[in-house]
Amino acid sequence: MNSAQPLADEHFRDELSNVDKKGKRLWIFPKKPKGKFYDYRTWLSWFFMALMFSGPFLKFEGRPLLLLNVLERKFIILGMVFWPQDLNLFALLMLSFILFIVLFTILFGRVWCGWACPQTIFLEMLFRKVEYFIEGDYMQQKKLMEQDWNPEKIRKRVLKHGIFWLLSFVIANTFLGYIIGIDELKLLVTDGPMAHIGKFASLLIFTTVFYFVFARLRELVCVFICPYGRLQGLMLDKNSMVVAYDYVRGEPRHKIKKEEEKGKGDCIDCKMCVHVCPTGIDIRNGTQLECINCTACIDACDEVMVKVNRPKGLVRFASVNNIKEGAKLGLNLRNGAYGVVLAALFGVFLYLLITRKQVETTLLRTPGMLFQKQANGKVSNLYTIEFVNKTFDELPIELKLIEPKGEIKFTDGKDLMVHKESVGKTSFFLLRDSSDITAISTPVVIQVWSKDKLIEEVKSKFNGPVVKK
Ligand code: SF4
Ligand code: SF4
Repeated sequence: MNSAQPLADEHFRDELSNVDKKGKRLWIFPKKPKGKFYDYRTWLSWFFMALMFSGPFLKFEGRPLLLLNVLERKFIILGMVFWPQDLNLFALLMLSFILFIVLFTILFGRVWCGWACPQTIFLEMLFRKVEYFIEGDYMQQKKLMEQDWNPEKIRKRVLKHGIFWLLSFVIANTFLGYIIGIDELKLLVTDGPMAHIGKFASLLIFTTVFYFVFARLRELVCVFICPYGRLQGLMLDKNSMVVAYDYVRGEPRHKIKKEEEKGKGDCIDCKMCVHVCPTGIDIRNGTQLECINCTACIDACDEVMVKVNRPKGLVRFASVNNIKEGAKLGLNLRNGAYGVVLAALFGVFLYLLITRKQVETTLLRTPGMLFQKQANGKVSNLYTIEFVNKTFDELPIELKLIEPKGEIKFTDGKDLMVHKESVGKTSFFLLRDSSDITAISTPVVIQVWSKDKLIEEVKSKFNGPVVKK
């Protein structure tokens, strides 16, 4: 971990801000944030929440815009269906995404955590706001926690946790909506929970998990559970832009006595930056694993700086080199290299996506069988053909034998129809006149047509008896 401040005393790294010496959790009461960055975050959060909550209702040509049905292994992204057969696309997308996260973190630190992560958005912009509204700011919350149970405490706690449960229920519905789709979710409401007991149980489980996360776990998710948070120490470098305290300007810190004190830094040790921190850390100790880049400390310190008539930005977005040497924030060689690899990966992904087949055909000669001699003197081979229909249309399938000369005969004698978003499978004989067979193994080419449109050309082999010349 890079430290933005070369403090000799690094004892703070030996203990956690939310755990006491006996290992008991210390509850964090962050001061209600306010300021320019908090306003930006609020607007952005409303936008993200509108997007998240409306997501399951958004449809494109009657299909969900986003469906992540892991149970049935069906995924719809931006109206396109992805199948387990598209695993290569997924793998590439995941690789690009991980690289993007790495690159983004190298450049901008943990901005994602503070500004766009659903955990932070829901906690800070929904649950915490409810808490401030019912229990007041951090000092009143602390007082309420310490006081004995009385009617006021019971009323506030019941109200708060009731609303928390309700919010968790709404989030759980949205989450389930992304998994099973909004139409299935509506059935849960119209038919009643008893008609869909499995889905209803999932809804209750999700609600309980979300309630536990937002009412109890809170910052522990960012500090201990989230793997991205744990990995950020590997990704940051001295040019990464993070929320940082300008120790060059701020030290030596001192309690303000007169308006101007010579030889003293700008930090007046008011600890406002610590009071507002949702993870309970002191940013003046340098970059820490717990910092989610929420910028609450920037707002708090800027307000203090205005009051004591000093320039804003004592705590600001900066890099180690920016603070130490006044270096400009920007790109370096490593970031550029990551960017090139990312662009290349994403380019390959886009190419594969555009050229992705809507119907995938697999043709296999039935294993363990060579050939069959038919009563009419013909020789046949048995094949199995499988179609994955990734479209939203019913597809009547027609097979055209291109080579060799012969005839296709389905084993069940029926026309083939592959239903939308499903897999179709059938078997057929390829029959050839024995007089046409001139080799033990002959290449087979079959075209797959649907509604007068060539879908794919598949290849196999035809095995015949040894030919006497
Ligand atoms: S140190 Fe500042 S930016 Fe980091 S989590 Fe605390 S308040 Fe947010
Ligand atoms: S808010 Fe600013 S002035 Fe106050 S302790 Fe933090 S860094 Fe120092």
